[in-house]
Amino acid sequence: MLMNRSFKIFLLFFFVAISSSSCYFFNGYYVRKDFKYPKPVDTKSKNIQYQIKKIYSFDNVYFDNTFDGARMNNVSKLDDSTYQVDILPENYPINDSPWYSFRVWSDSIRNIYIKLNYENGHHRYIPKISSDRTHWNVIDTSGLVIADDRSFAIFPFKVDTSKIWISAEEIINSSDVKIWMQKLKKNAFTSRFLSVGKTKLNKGIPFFRIGTGNSKGKDVIVLLSRQHPPEISGFLALKSFIEELLIENKVTEDFYKEYEFWVFPLMNPDGVDLGHWRHNANGVDLNRDWAYYRQPEVDAVTDFIVSNAKENKNEIVLSVDFHSTQKDVYYVYDDSFDTELKRFTKYWTDSIDRLIYPFESV
Ligand SMILES: [Zn+2]
Repeated sequence: MLMNRSFKIFLLFFFVAISSSSCYFFNGYYVRKDFKYPKPVDTKSKNIQYQIKKIYSFDNVYFDNTFDGARMNNVSKLDDSTYQVDILPENYPINDSPWYSFRVWSDSIRNIYIKLNYENGHHRYIPKISSDRTHWNVIDTSGLVIADDRSFAIFPFKVDTSKIWISAEEIINSSDVKIWMQKLKKNAFTSRFLSVGKTKLNKGIPFFRIGTGNSKGKDVIVLLSRQHPPEISGFLALKSFIEELLIENKVTEDFYKEYEFWVFPLMNPDGVDLGHWRHNANGVDLNRDWAYYRQPEVDAVTDFIVSNAKENKNEIVLSVDFHSTQKDVYYVYDDSFDTELKRFTKYWTDSIDRLIYPFESV
């Protein structure tokens, strides 16, 4: 796991009070609710550009994108030692978060340059490398040159017979999430591991519950992650948060007498495995579809929440959606907004203020 200082500032928890946005409490049960986004985005399905999956070979130097989570749209050789890797979005317009991920090796030791060339985007992520996909390091940035307009970045790299992953962030694809969830099954507080629906590419949308005993009448906290494929640090934050919730002690045991968590750890499995910058396999930003429910992922998750809350007479009191961005740590509704837990935002940020001084609330 990559743990460095930049990890902390890239954390972002996007907080949404679901009862005020996506569905609302009506006549004793939840129904879906339409609302207007301040900046509406068209969430009708669109065509995406699929990558050609292959191993590119040039004079015994190899570039490979044949794994889930890879993004490398083309490779060309510019001169004796420089290789250009083209990085394109799945469709356009799109958020400027160009994810890239590929493997490189050679038949013999060679010193080469790798140029990351972006179309419809700008260099954002410092390359990370790994030989086992578990332990990751930031590349030696002393040789990294970024174009003034950020349209490309170039860095020297020593290749040999060991296959090295080079990636915008560490790779956590849908298989990795499955393996993690499999391990969580052993925990006393977890249950109901299931898929709440299927994506366009027929992948399951995973769910599990954290809580004890019967669900009837419990207050529910919804956790979401990976709507946006490149936001790895948000997922790592969710993972750490969940691992804390699974520690058996008096606090958690008491908490689960009244509350339970409904966890959707991988909202966009198609986008994650396709190495997308932002969208699902329908070319849509899922986080702009919560008022329209046009996309299978948002539709299935909302349906599941509404029907399960109705069946077990649950109240959805809070939702935390884990993302990553460059500076912000928490996006919250201010207390003028009508949310389920009154004044929760102030209580929460004030508590953080006390714990992590100095913490700037803006
Ligand atoms: Zn996001």
